[in-house]
Amino acid sequence: MPLYYIWTIGCQMNKAESERLASRFEELGYQPTGRAEEADLIVLNSCVVRQSAENRVVNKLYALRSVKKTRPDITLALTGCMVDADTDHLKKTYPHVDHFFQAGGYPPWLEKAEALSLPHYPSPTEFVTIIQGCNNFCSYCIVPYRRGRERSRPVAEIAGEVRELVRRGAKEITLLGQNVDSYGHDLPERPDLADLLTELNEIDGLRRLRFLTNHPKDMSLKLIEAIATLDKVCEQLSLPVQAGSNDILKAMKRGYTAAQYRELAGRIREKVPGVALSTDVIVGFPAETENQFRQTLDLLSEIKFDTVHIAAYSPRTGTAAARELEDDIQSTEKKERLNKVEQLQEKIQTEINARLTGRTLEILVEGRKKGKWYGRTRTDKLVFFSSSDNYLGQLINVKISKTSPWSLQGKIEPGEINREGK
Ligand code: SF4
Repeated sequence: MPLYYIWTIGCQMNKAESERLASRFEELGYQPTGRAEEADLIVLNSCVVRQSAENRVVNKLYALRSVKKTRPDITLALTGCMVDADTDHLKKTYPHVDHFFQAGGYPPWLEKAEALSLPHYPSPTEFVTIIQGCNNFCSYCIVPYRRGRERSRPVAEIAGEVRELVRRGAKEITLLGQNVDSYGHDLPERPDLADLLTELNEIDGLRRLRFLTNHPKDMSLKLIEAIATLDKVCEQLSLPVQAGSNDILKAMKRGYTAAQYRELAGRIREKVPGVALSTDVIVGFPAETENQFRQTLDLLSEIKFDTVHIAAYSPRTGTAAARELEDDIQSTEKKERLNKVEQLQEKIQTEINARLTGRTLEILVEGRKKGKWYGRTRTDKLVFFSSSDNYLGQLINVKISKTSPWSLQGKIEPGEINREGK
C-alpha cells in the first residue's frame, strides 16, 4: 500500500487544506506515515509569514533532497504561501521538488477542484475555508501576494460542506479566511458573513460556530448583532490590532486608529456579554519608538485580551514595508519588547482565568492528552479533566477547580449543559 506524508506549518487555513489533501490521498489508496523517508508521496504545506517559518520550510526542503536522491521515484510537492503564481525561481532553487501548487489550489495530479475531500471521520472540531486571499495589502504582509485576491465560496457550497461534516460527526465548525469580514462581496447575491452564519446556525446537529480572522476596519454592526443573537455562534472573536500607536498603524496600512479599535472592542463587549477577545501584535515594526511601543502595552493593559499572538517584525521580500522601510530595530530590542508583551499578557490571562474558578462551563471534548481529557469552552478556553469514560465529541459541564494563564482544570458536573453566554 503506498504511503503519504504531509508536513504542515502556519495558520489554520494551511492545516485545513492539508486535512483535505490527506482525505483525498486516502481515497486514492494511500496510507498516512509520520516518516518522510518511507513515503511515496510527500507534500510540504509551507508558511512564509515570518522569516522563522520560512527558514523551517527551507531546512525541510533541503533535508528532503537526500530522500529524493535515494528514492527518485517518489513524488515531492510544495504548496502553501511559499508558492506564488510564478514558480520558475522555486524550480531553479529546489530542482528535486516535482510539483509546486499554490495555497488553496490542487496538486496537478488531482484533476479538479472537487477532487479534494472531506475527512471521513472528522474530529469534533473542524475547519471550513469560506474565503481565499486578501485585498487589504497591510504593508508588512506577504499573504495577498501569495494567496491572491479575495475569492468567496458560495453560501450553498459552504452549507453543504458543513452539513456533511456534521453528518459525519463534527460538532463545531470554524469558518476560515484571511479576512472573513470581506466574505461575499465578490458573489452575485453579495451575502455577508452575518448572512452565512444565519444560514449555518440552522443546521441540525451543529452545536458551535466560530470564525477567524477578522479585520477591525471591515467588521460590521450587523455581524456583531449576529454574534449576539445566533445561539450557535460562540462568544469569542479574533480581532488583530497589531499596534497601539496611530503612526505605526498608519505605516502598517491597517486602515483604523487605536481609538477606532478601542471603540469597536467596547461595542462588541457591550453587545456580546462575556465575549473573549483575542488579538495579534507585531513588535519592532520599522522606526517603532519606545513611546510607540508603550502605546501598544497601554492598549493591551486597557482592553485585557483573553489571548495575544505576538510576533517580532521580520521584513518579507515583496511587501511595501520591506521595500520602503528600514528594518532598523535591533533584534535584541525586538526580543525585549516581545518579552514585555508576553509578561504583561501572562499577568492579564492569569487574572481573567482565575475568575473562572468555581464556575461550571460547557466543554466540547476534543481528545486526550497525557491521560486527561481536554476540550474548549465557548470562549475558547482549554479545559482538562480526568475520567475513565469516553467523552470524545460530547458537550459536557465541567466545574473549574484550578486555573493557569494557559488552561483550566476541573471536574465533570452532571446535568443540563451550562451556557457561558447567550
Ligand atoms: S488583512 Fe492584512 S495582515 Fe491580514 S492577510 Fe490581509 S494583508 Fe495580511
